[in-house]
Amino acid sequence: EKTPLTLLGLGAMGTALARTWLAAGHPLTVWNRTPARAEALAADGAEVADSAAAAVAANTLVVVCLLDDASVEEVLAGADLTGRDLVNLTTGTPAQARARARWAQERGARYLDGGIMAVPPMIGVPESGGYVFYSGPEELFERHRETLAVPTGTRYVGEDAGFAALHDVALLSAMYGMFAGASHAFALIRKEDIDPASLAPLLADWIVAMAPAVHHTAEQLRSGDYTQGVVSNLAMQVAGIPTFLNTAEQQGVSPELLGPYFELMRRRLAEGSGEEDVTGVIDLLVR
Ligand code: NDP
Repeated sequence: EKTPLTLLGLGAMGTALARTWLAAGHPLTVWNRTPARAEALAADGAEVADSAAAAVAANTLVVVCLLDDASVEEVLAGADLTGRDLVNLTTGTPAQARARARWAQERGARYLDGGIMAVPPMIGVPESGGYVFYSGPEELFERHRETLAVPTGTRYVGEDAGFAALHDVALLSAMYGMFAGASHAFALIRKEDIDPASLAPLLADWIVAMAPAVHHTAEQLRSGDYTQGVVSNLAMQVAGIPTFLNTAEQQGVSPELLGPYFELMRRRLAEGSGEEDVTGVIDLLVR
């Protein structure tokens, strides 16, 4: 017997999630503010509730995937959450997740927070590598692990309700740094007779080759010794900064993306950390 569940929110992500549960044979009750989006799923076997409250009443396991935390508040305001296992896959901050967990507990519900590391086309495609971070009571996660693993992978990251969001935002922040670096790289060749499509595979391979450096960083943060196993020390790297800034200037490219990182490297060097790795920049960021 497949666990029956309720899903509130049938946007791009909610609809993708819903299809996988229906395809796997889970009895599914859905609700969406705009009813038309639910009708499409009714044809695939979903039970469509008239209201969010009715949808919540239908099953113990209630998953919400709405636009933001404010919409979660709005949608669940009129529902009786007593005895529900609420799983919130709406993206938010760690503080919002923690507050939402307390809010749910006050209303008699158990609460898991989720951070989706996938885009809708990756849902239901195990080989896509997508997954959802979960945080909250571990026994609650274990109880629903099988059902939650239907749409995509699962990674449990701790009892603190805010940890799923924190991991989500941490990974996406690193992604934006990576996009920023790639943007600068493409800008450098923009006015030249170099096909961006010839740079792209080089960039992709280089980013992958450099990615394992994060393990090294983690080891240094653990030991507190930022000179441990240093390959390219800060003094050498700071000496190279003019090469990057001058090249940018010569290519007519703004240094506004790379500049702040270089500034932090220089500040760390000025503190006398020339023999260290760039790991010390992290300490400058943490206020
Ligand atoms: P969509 O914009 O496609 O859908 C938003 C959903 O929220 C719709 O069901 C919408 O209802 C509903 N909604 C918005 N405001 C309200 C409200 N005030 N009251 C009731 N319902 C409301 O977003 P997604 O489905 O793509 O995203 C859902 C969540 O998943 C977000 O938190 C997003 O950050 C997260 N996510 C999305 C990813 C993506 O690539 N799409 C990737 C990872 C996470 P209606 O149909 O009536 O407008």
